[in-house]
Amino acid sequence: MPDILDAQLKRVLSERIRFYNELGIYDFYRREPARANISEGEAAPLATTPEIQPEQRDLMTPRGKAAVVPVVTEEDIFEVANPKPESGVTDPVQALRLIREDLGECTRCRLHKQGRKQIVFGVGNPKAELMFIGEAPGADEDQQGEPFVGRAGQLLNNMIKAMGLRREDIYIANIIKCRPPGNRTPERDECETCSPFLMRQIAAIKPKAIVALGAVAAKTLLAINAPMSEFRGRWFDFRGTKLAVTYHPAFLLRDPRQKKETWKDLQMVMKELGMAIPAKGAE
Ligand code: URA
Repeated sequence: MPDILDAQLKRVLSERIRFYNELGIYDFYRREPARANISEGEAAPLATTPEIQPEQRDLMTPRGKAAVVPVVTEEDIFEVANPKPESGVTDPVQALRLIREDLGECTRCRLHKQGRKQIVFGVGNPKAELMFIGEAPGADEDQQGEPFVGRAGQLLNNMIKAMGLRREDIYIANIIKCRPPGNRTPERDECETCSPFLMRQIAAIKPKAIVALGAVAAKTLLAINAPMSEFRGRWFDFRGTKLAVTYHPAFLLRDPRQKKETWKDLQMVMKELGMAIPAKGAE
């Protein structure tokens, strides 16, 4: 059974959310997906969410061949109350257009009045299998309206080429879409305000793999505060998509010795995507 809620379940959930809101409860937390490993024909266990009252279980428990208990995420819950413009749009080109429109001439955080020239939304193939996610636009990106077009971008282009790909094959975006003054590291609240749009871009593109470039991207996407040494060389699960972390190209410009390590990370990604590994790495 897909994770998408059916209309009846949505209705029950929105009623319940309204009820909680009236009690002054607005925060909902995600439970671990409780997927039942039972074979077809066996009775599906009741949804285990304690706040679901017994009288509602009939309505909410999948019937018939249901082998999986629906997973209700906080995104589902907010989606019920506040559907996004791209909800139900399966064409990623159209979905990305709707997300961009929704973003508008964004003034949601302080960066709009701190010298940004333009919003840097993201670039590349809306049907990409691979996404690279950086930190924030710099001066060149702010000027041109495209991520990774400066010196770090040149190096990223070399990394992409070394993988046997073209820039237009993949999709490139950043955690935040506006240049922070003086290229400072994005503040936490700026990431929190802006990154939901990135999450929606990822959901629209549905890549097979994501590469987070640097610690800011990794920490924001994974909500884990760890050093790079703990992020690299392994796969993470990002909402059902494989996510790997490697060094940010700007860091590699400062410490080119780490290119070798980066190439190892990229090879891990290529292997996952079923790509042939060229003999030589990025220079
Ligand atoms: N650094 C980033 O993280 N993103 C860009 O787009 C450019 C430089």
